[in-house]
Amino acid sequence: MSYRPSVENVTKAGSNEKEGLYEFIVKLADGTECRAFYHRFPQWRMTNINRLQKTPCPVCRKDFICNCMESFSGDIGLQIEDGQWIDKALAE
Ligand SMILES: [Zn+2]
Repeated sequence: MSYRPSVENVTKAGSNEKEGLYEFIVKLADGTECRAFYHRFPQWRMTNINRLQKTPCPVCRKDFICNCMESFSGDIGLQIEDGQWIDKALAE
């Protein structure tokens, strides 16, 4: 019940640097992959996150669209910040 996401890797999927918009693929330790959208101005912040429908949702087990990951956006966002994953993803 108490799902605890664990960020394992972050890669850049796209960006509009002029607008400060970035899209990252966030891989979690359980194999779940999410697409996270960020706006970097005035500071980096996640604007949206959703699960890629490659694997069933680890929370509700649906294999189609659901909004479960939104409830974990704060936790995932903190892990991305603490792990400096954005810097790493942009350096690639
Ligand atoms: Zn779900």
